[in-house]
Amino acid sequence: MTQSKHPETLGVRAGSVHTEFGENSEAMFLTSSFVYNSAAQAAARFGGQEPGNIYSRFTNPTVTMFQDKLAALEGAEFCVATSSGMSAILACVMGLCSTGDHVVVSRSVFGTTVQLFGNILKRWGLDVTFVSLTDLGEWEAALKPNTKLLFVETPSNPLTEVCDITALADLAHRAGAQLVVDNCFCSPALQKPIELGADIIVHSATKYIDGQGRCLGGAVLGKKDVMEPVYGFLRTAGPTMSAFNAWVFLKGLETLSLRMDAHSRNALALAQWLEGQPQVARVYYPGLESHPQHALAMRQQKTGGGIVSFDLKGGQDAAWRMIDHTQLLSITANLGDAKSTITHPATTTHSRVTPEARAAAGIGDGLVRIAVGLEHIEDIRTDVERGLKAI
Ligand SMILES: *Cc1c(COP(=O)(O)O)cnc(C)c1O
Repeated sequence: MTQSKHPETLGVRAGSVHTEFGENSEAMFLTSSFVYNSAAQAAARFGGQEPGNIYSRFTNPTVTMFQDKLAALEGAEFCVATSSGMSAILACVMGLCSTGDHVVVSRSVFGTTVQLFGNILKRWGLDVTFVSLTDLGEWEAALKPNTKLLFVETPSNPLTEVCDITALADLAHRAGAQLVVDNCFCSPALQKPIELGADIIVHSATKYIDGQGRCLGGAVLGKKDVMEPVYGFLRTAGPTMSAFNAWVFLKGLETLSLRMDAHSRNALALAQWLEGQPQVARVYYPGLESHPQHALAMRQQKTGGGIVSFDLKGGQDAAWRMIDHTQLLSITANLGDAKSTITHPATTTHSRVTPEARAAAGIGDGLVRIAVGLEHIEDIRTDVERGLKAI
């Protein structure tokens, strides 16, 4: 399907392949291996002379449909699906970097991403520098001759900081490096990093791509030649996406645009209301005029997205009391679900980050994050108000 179609149409139609049975909903190919007509055909498939499936660690038709649909939505040449968002980030680095290479990573990334770069990959000889997401000077100063990747999440988790993707991509390219954007918070329905100049996109499909909190999965997208070694790592090391999960994500992508618009409407209304509440010191939401990168966010993204964070004046005690007195919201760290979720980042998603690193990233003890779901906004607001009044 051509790129000229609208995103809503691509979400529903792109990438789908139908079998001889004429099914309208895409088929789920739960098979580990594929059968050949003859020994000669098996040899031709393994030798690469004949295209076709061999084994589901390499390719699987349901996973391929998911990859093609997401690639169409992101405007990417190629997509490789992975077993989780973390294995997408791992595959990206394992495919594109070697021991001794240098990467620059935003300090304001998902807590586990900090662990992966700052702990595990460092142990294997990757040179890692963490910098402030929004300070272009710090990025520039961190560059070295062996810098291979610049890695950002925008908007960031949980403070919704926004960086200028085009400016950072220019900086990366002048240094002979590539820019990787974790596009989890926006999804392609709200932001298209490759159009803005980024080279590589990583996704946790677990979040908005699924949209109903069912499965773990991830993806890496970019130019075909750049994705080749990433795919090579996956088919050899094995953290590939299961056909079942790919099928769930295929169905999720059909409603992505609609859902992201609805999440965004609810989030903006909640953020505006929170700004007027006496218990709240500060609200973090890119759609608010008070957000430091509001103008940039509105140029780069279709909306402010579905995540709202806020500082409570009463610190951790207030945050825990507020969370414990909500009744509708789910107390869980997941996001991107139809169900609104509420979490205390300092003691959950970012608890394994050192207190110093947490402070440097601006994640205070009074910070609460709500991933605003698809319930009616009045019911969400009533529940948050119940929590605030209990402080
Ligand atoms: C959840 C998340 C990840 C990790 O994804 P998993 O599917 O849980 O492995 C990476 N980046 C961001 C921004 C996330 O929110």
